[in-house]
Amino acid sequence: MDLQALQANSSLHTHTVFCDGADDVETMCRVAYEKGLAAIGFSAHAPIYEKTGWKTNWHLRDFAAYTAEIQAAKIRWNGKIAVYAGLEVDFVKGLIGPADFKDAGLDYLIGSVHYLVPLCGAHFAVDGSAAELERGIALFGGVEALVNAYWDAEEALIAEGGFDILGHIDIIKKNNGNGSYFSETDPFYVERITRIADLIAAAHTQRNIAVEVNTGGLNRGKTTEIYPSPALLRLLRERNVPVILTSDAHCAEHLDGNYPAARFEMEKAGYL
Ligand SMILES: [Zn+2]
Ligand SMILES: [Zn+2]
Repeated sequence: MDLQALQANSSLHTHTVFCDGADDVETMCRVAYEKGLAAIGFSAHAPIYEKTGWKTNWHLRDFAAYTAEIQAAKIRWNGKIAVYAGLEVDFVKGLIGPADFKDAGLDYLIGSVHYLVPLCGAHFAVDGSAAELERGIALFGGVEALVNAYWDAEEALIAEGGFDILGHIDIIKKNNGNGSYFSETDPFYVERITRIADLIAAAHTQRNIAVEVNTGGLNRGKTTEIYPSPALLRLLRERNVPVILTSDAHCAEHLDGNYPAARFEMEKAGYL
């Protein structure tokens, strides 16, 4: 699978009824084909219960049925659209990470931080609601501490590796609105995104990885811009880090949601 060739005309971050998506594998393949995409990849939320003991309603329930269904779709759509099987794997330091799924026989893995674990108290969901963000700020003792804990987790994920694509890298801004909690131009934040860009570039020289340009926040009306921010995208471009356009689609309609806007940002950063 050539991520570089699929850079701006595929949809490799998708969710179906096997986890928390609305549509089935066949519908997603058909709509991706109708939209003229060169490839569709499935990236169900990898099961976490065994490793973390956390019960959720949005992770993959039946891995065998999931991979069998995608395998059948690969054959059905052969010659029309490339179909890939992947997983979006949570990274929680010391508990679970993409490396745990390296032998799962998949085409690719997306590594994502959705949870942070405070020193005491229940884990915090980065991808949660504004109320959850308020809870996280209280848990970590302030906005800056929470944001730093998030970037620490991203750094640990990059150090541990095991993924092909780094998922929604600055999702910590999801509930930040127009800077309601922190400013992305604050020196501490600029320092964190510069350091992460350096670390990704260094990791990329050792193993071939790409960073998502993810339109999921836009598609669901949660953000006014892509992940990563244009500023971080520029830092990645300057360091020759490859990117791949994804939609984090939870329904077929979103498979190429906001792609024109994202391609515009990619072009501005010098990617296209
Ligand atoms: Zn995710
Ligand atoms: Zn996702």
